[in-house]
Amino acid sequence: MFTIGCHVSVSGGYEMMGKTTLAIGGNTFQYFTRNPRGSRGTKTPSAADVAALRALMEEHHFAPALAHAPYTYNPASKDENIRQYTRDAMAEELRFLESLPGSLYNFHPGCHVGQGMEVGIAQVTELLNAIVLPDQSTTVLLETMAGKGTEIGGKFEELRTIIDLVRPEIRHKIGVCLDTCHVSDGGYDIAGDTDGVVEEFDRVIGLDRLRAIHLNDSKNPLGAHKDRHEKIGEGFLGIEGITRIICHPKLRHLPFYLETPNEIDGYAKEIAQLKGIREEK
Ligand code: FE
Ligand code: FE
Ligand code: ZN
Repeated sequence: MFTIGCHVSVSGGYEMMGKTTLAIGGNTFQYFTRNPRGSRGTKTPSAADVAALRALMEEHHFAPALAHAPYTYNPASKDENIRQYTRDAMAEELRFLESLPGSLYNFHPGCHVGQGMEVGIAQVTELLNAIVLPDQSTTVLLETMAGKGTEIGGKFEELRTIIDLVRPEIRHKIGVCLDTCHVSDGGYDIAGDTDGVVEEFDRVIGLDRLRAIHLNDSKNPLGAHKDRHEKIGEGFLGIEGITRIICHPKLRHLPFYLETPNEIDGYAKEIAQLKGIREEK
């Protein structure tokens, strides 16, 4: 079973995200919970729209969808107002996601903006402790980052520390989403030495925490710390690297989400290509 999808727009409503995914051959999808660049929230979807999406997902055996928090959030901002805004917005999104049971909710740990990694990590932990509930159905995922600027999460150890510091009662609700472009940019040779990076992830964080993969090629070489996604096979990971990742025995059961620079027809082609590769192996 290959679980594959891509980032889709929420602007046409919730059921439409399911229909779009079906049309391009996917069985899961990722979406922004609200417009990533706008600070004002999108209107709350109607219960009927959410119910229609749930019915579609059930009928077509979709894996749970991955909701991505907007880029405007920063759990580790120096500014208490921004941290408070991030905390309130994420709490509200987690409440909404209970209407799509079993969801994954991915967020960027944020940038410590000169406060230092330790302070930043403590602030991310504080936020999770405040908003994640032990009995919620959503799993909250920390995304592996490229280590650009003061970004938290460019090293596996940083994510491990956050997980270690959250309240034990909510720890089972915290996981990791590995972004293949980001980890390569962060200096982990996921394309060339897939086995080695999987082992390193297991050693530092534990593979049981790994719940999703953002499948992207990178415009930049290993360790570039840039975070510029590329189309599958057209970047420094290359089609051979991507093949090793999607076919890896310890990764292949995970859901894969494309965030490549594509319109919907480009995503359809990539999904077809990746399915072909998985069928061969
Ligand atoms: Fe992301
Ligand atoms: Fe990503
Ligand atoms: Zn990225």
